[in-house]
Amino acid sequence: MNTDTIITLYEEICENHTKFLGDDVSLPKLFKNDKKNQFNKRALVLVYLYSKIGIAVSKEELTIFIRKFYPKTNDVQDGRHLSRQSGWNILSGGRNDDNDLSLKKDEYSLISIKTPYPGNVSKHRKVGFKDKDFNKLKEKYNYGCATCGSKEGKHNLLNSSVITKLTKGHMDPEKELIPGNIIPQCDECNRAYQDKFVFNNSGRVISQTKDRKMLNVLNENISDKDKIIKMRNLLS
Ligand SMILES: [Zn+2]
Repeated sequence: MNTDTIITLYEEICENHTKFLGDDVSLPKLFKNDKKNQFNKRALVLVYLYSKIGIAVSKEELTIFIRKFYPKTNDVQDGRHLSRQSGWNILSGGRNDDNDLSLKKDEYSLISIKTPYPGNVSKHRKVGFKDKDFNKLKEKYNYGCATCGSKEGKHNLLNSSVITKLTKGHMDPEKELIPGNIIPQCDECNRAYQDKFVFNNSGRVISQTKDRKMLNVLNENISDKDKIIKMRNLLS
């Protein structure tokens, strides 16, 4: 895919976004800066998925594409962010989204650029928590990642090759991203823990979301055999 194609596809997405999606879905900027000499990674992922709309795209395929622009990329997480946080209608196999595509783990598919993600989008979007509020929260944490302590703008303690940027991390990934459920986290921590853990407000892991799901299964009104099957599925 050459630069012109990327720009054309992005413009198509942009048009549809304005027309059909508006505030419900957030559109990543195409360029990283005003010089317009470097594409934004997340926009590239969106463009690539759009070029294969309705088709399963593996994370590996996305990574190969992104490496043409960012050679050091080792793991592209943007597919997940684009749906859960930005609201794009991207289904993923790993999340067990209901779909007719039988997506495998680590496969994504952009379904439409005219409709938002059908799941619990609001649950994962930045509803009611503006940048101003986030700045206040960061100040409370002395501009450090709640989990690893890396300071914003300084070299990351877990990966010294990157400069720390703090993002809104869920304390409980199964609840909305609203005040009381947000801690500042660096990208390294946010990515490493994915949605598998629940944190306290000091950024420490207090449980696994899986454990809670297991407890829920135990309390369900179903046969022991069904409980065992469900629990085995959760563990696999
Ligand atoms: Zn961190």
